[in-house]
Amino acid sequence: MKIVMKFGGTSVADGKRIRNVARLAKRFSQGNELVVVCSAMDDLTDHLIALTEDAKAGSEKAVEERLVAIRQDHASALKEAVRSPEVAAKVKKKLAETFDQLEKLALGSTILRELTPRSRDGILSCGERLSNPIVWGALLDQGMDSVYMTGGECGIMTDDKFGDAAPLMEVTSYQVKETLGPLLAAGKTPVVTGYIGATQAGEITTFGRGGSDLTATVIASSIGADEVWIWSDVDGLMTADPKTVPEARVLSEVSYAEAGEMAVFGAKALHPRTLEPVAEKDIPVRFKNTFKPEFPGTVVKSDPKAYARNIVKSVALVKNVAIITLTGASMVGRPGSAARIFDIVAKSGTNILMISQSVSESNISMVVNRPAMQRAVNALELSMMGPGGLRHVNYEDDVSAVAVVGGGMRGAKGIAAKVFGAVASNGINVRMIAQGSSEQNISFVVHESDAKDAVRAVHKAFHLDRLNSGQRRAAHPRTEE
Ligand code: ASP
Ligand code: MG
Repeated sequence: MKIVMKFGGTSVADGKRIRNVARLAKRFSQGNELVVVCSAMDDLTDHLIALTEDAKAGSEKAVEERLVAIRQDHASALKEAVRSPEVAAKVKKKLAETFDQLEKLALGSTILRELTPRSRDGILSCGERLSNPIVWGALLDQGMDSVYMTGGECGIMTDDKFGDAAPLMEVTSYQVKETLGPLLAAGKTPVVTGYIGATQAGEITTFGRGGSDLTATVIASSIGADEVWIWSDVDGLMTADPKTVPEARVLSEVSYAEAGEMAVFGAKALHPRTLEPVAEKDIPVRFKNTFKPEFPGTVVKSDPKAYARNIVKSVALVKNVAIITLTGASMVGRPGSAARIFDIVAKSGTNILMISQSVSESNISMVVNRPAMQRAVNALELSMMGPGGLRHVNYEDDVSAVAVVGGGMRGAKGIAAKVFGAVASNGINVRMIAQGSSEQNISFVVHESDAKDAVRAVHKAFHLDRLNSGQRRAAHPRTEE
C-alpha cells in the first residue's frame, strides 16, 4: 500500500515521542510505500504566534527569550531522538539554517515593530521546519532510507494568501508526483513538513492552523495514495468530547461529509479543507492514536457503515461564541437585505458560524466567534446610520452552540423533535436553531451554563454511549490543535 502518515504536534512533542514515531514509521514501511508528514513540536506554533506579537510590540527581550527556549527544546529533542553522531550532525545543519532564518526574521521585525503577512508566515513555518528534520534523523537512526524536504521543495505550490494559502492543485499534483514518485520507487521514505507550501516565486506560505492535515491529503491525492493515516493522541473521531461526556465512544466509520461537519464544529481540530483533496478521489483517511497503534481508530470514507438506531453520530460543543440579532421592518420583503448584512459582517473580517432568519423576515440572527463579535457589531451599527438602515443590533455573548451531526439524518423524520425533546426535558431553553439543507447537521444555541447538559442530553437520547460496544473510549482524551 501507498500510505501518507501525518503525525500531530503531541506525537512529536519531545525526543522520546519522535523515536516512537520513527518506530511506527519503520514498522509500517515494511511492505508499504510511506510518506511521513509532521506538525511542529507540541504547541510551538502557539509560541511562534506569541513571538510575532512580541516582535510587533518591539519587546526584544521577550523575543530573545523565546528564541532561546525554542533552541533548547529542539536541541534536547534531537539529542534524545537521534543516537548516531553522524546523523545528528546532518540534522543539526538543517536546524541551524532554519534557526538562522527565524532569528533574522524575528529580530528584524522586532526592530521595525512591523510584520508583513509574508514574514509572519516565514516565522510560523519554522515550527515544522525544526521538527521534521529531527524526525528525519530519527528515521535514519532506525536504519531507514529517508529524505527530508519542505512542502515547497516537495512541490506544493500555493496562491499568495499568506496565513491561509490554498494549494494550486494542478501544478502541485504534477510536481509532488515528480518529486516523490522516484523516491518511493527507490524504497526511500520522504519526510515532508506539514502546514507549509510555497508561492510560484518560492516564498513560504502556511495553510492556516492545523494545516499539516491538509499537507497530508494534498500529497495523498497527488501521488494516488491508498490511504492517509492521521496520528494524534486520541483514538479517533468520537461521538462527543470525552471531557464533556465521559461515555463518549469512538466512531469506527464516518463519511467525508460527516467528518467535515465534525471538523468545522471542533470535534477534532481538523483543518477545514483537509478532506477536499481525498474525498474527490475516494482515498480513505484513518485516524489513529500514536500511543495505541493497535487500536483501529476511525476511518473516513465515502460509504461508511450506518449504525443501526444511531442516525446521529456525534454531538459537538462550540464554546466562546456569540449571537448577533438584527431587527427592523426595513428588512421585510426587501431583496438584498441579507446580502447587505452579510457583506458588512464579511468586510469586518468576521466569520459567521450559523445563520437563521424567520419567515417574517423581520429579524436575522447569526452566530460568530466571541472575540470577533464586537468588530461585527460595530460595523453593523455604523451602517445603521445610513438611509434604509437597520433598526436594532442586539447581541448575547454568554452562549454556546451545539452541533448534532450524522449523515443518517438526511430524510429521516423526527430527528429534530428528538433532539429538542431531549434538550427541553432537561429544562434547557434553546435560543436559536439552524439546519443546513444538507440535513447532516442540526445546530442550536443555548446559554453557556446549559451547554454541557444539552450535549449530554442529546448524546443520551440517541444512545451514543452504546455505540460500537466493541470499541473502548479514548484513553488519552486530550485533543490536539
Ligand atoms: N503547527 C501548525 C498548527 O499548530 C500546523 C499543524 O499542527 O497542523 O496549527
Ligand atoms: Mg500543531
